[in-house]
Amino acid sequence: MPEQQALEALKGADLIVGCVNNLAARADLLEIAGRYCIPYIDIGLTLRTADDVPDPAPIVAVAGHVFANVPGGPCFWCAGYLTKKRLESEAGGADRSYLRNRRVGAPARDALVSPFNGVLANQAACDVLQIVLGYAPSRAAVVYKMYDGFSGTMTDWEVTSRGDCPHCSSVVANGDPVWA
Ligand SMILES: [Zn+2]
Repeated sequence: MPEQQALEALKGADLIVGCVNNLAARADLLEIAGRYCIPYIDIGLTLRTADDVPDPAPIVAVAGHVFANVPGGPCFWCAGYLTKKRLESEAGGADRSYLRNRRVGAPARDALVSPFNGVLANQAACDVLQIVLGYAPSRAAVVYKMYDGFSGTMTDWEVTSRGDCPHCSSVVANGDPVWA
């Protein structure tokens, strides 16, 4: 994202599952999904270590989420997960190319992330089935699940649509961008 080939492939998808490692790519995926009214399920995980202690610093939290952004329902912007301030903070003042130029090299502790991400990926697959089949009608409104890797539990978080959401009010169902 956002190479042209990826954009063209995504536009024809029935459903998008995002497993990306930054907010900017999430914002891009959400935008293209919204423009073409495609449900977008996002998973994410953060592994936090204690500050100000020598390595190996102990892990203090393994926190993740599974968020089903369904056009017409609440989205990442409604939830406050995506904000202009957070996107600017991630970029650190760099322009949009900062992601391409970012140095690749994960800390050794990130090797732990894989099994936790596996849990989130499986939940995302269940959410795909829920959106496509509606196998659990009473769960239809649940869009945001928070994951605690310490306890191995997933908790529902209530998210409501925001009337002033920049995504829901001016991006959803808008199709191709047009520059006048
Ligand atoms: Zn929204």
